[in-house]
Amino acid sequence: MIKKLSYIFGSKTHAQEILFLLHDAKEVVRQGFYAEELPKIEKFCRDFNLIIVKSKFKVLLADAEAYSNKGIRVPEDDIREGMYFVYISKSEQKACLASYYELISNDRDLGILLGFPCCCVDFFCQKFTVNKQNLELPSTNPFTNLSKRAQDLVILSHFPCRSDCQDSINLAKRYLDVLMKVDSRRVEELLKALKDSAN
Ligand SMILES: [Zn+2]
Repeated sequence: MIKKLSYIFGSKTHAQEILFLLHDAKEVVRQGFYAEELPKIEKFCRDFNLIIVKSKFKVLLADAEAYSNKGIRVPEDDIREGMYFVYISKSEQKACLASYYELISNDRDLGILLGFPCCCVDFFCQKFTVNKQNLELPSTNPFTNLSKRAQDLVILSHFPCRSDCQDSINLAKRYLDVLMKVDSRRVEELLKALKDSAN
């Protein structure tokens, strides 16, 4: 299931987020895509009655680090290849609101709307800067482990404020419960990989 969805959404991590959305474990997801990837994603959203709102700007990523999706914003007609953000939700209001918060760089309300724990939103707002974009902390459990996200193996889509942040762990467990119902192989794959690299 996840593998099939990943052909549309470009990665298993993106695909599982869409599943969390469809199963009401998330209310809005925010993902970055290049223009040529969008038609099949827009078609999927139409087929599944999801609202998709696309940013009016593009982002030139500074490096291959697409996790926080921060980069230089340029207008849509800039000839350089940039990524669009899309905000996908069952609720048109929430998709539009997420797009608006991003536009005005309101990281706090955007984070809350995306369902991240308040403690982790505070952590992000306090620590994230242009020069410090990677807030990953060493993890002691598979739930908050972000160390394999570049290999498409991660459960959360935010930077946990602590390795043992209870809200993040609870959120990750809730996501795994949903995933277990639709694709238990993906759960196994995640837990195995993320346990091994947890200290
Ligand atoms: Zn936290």
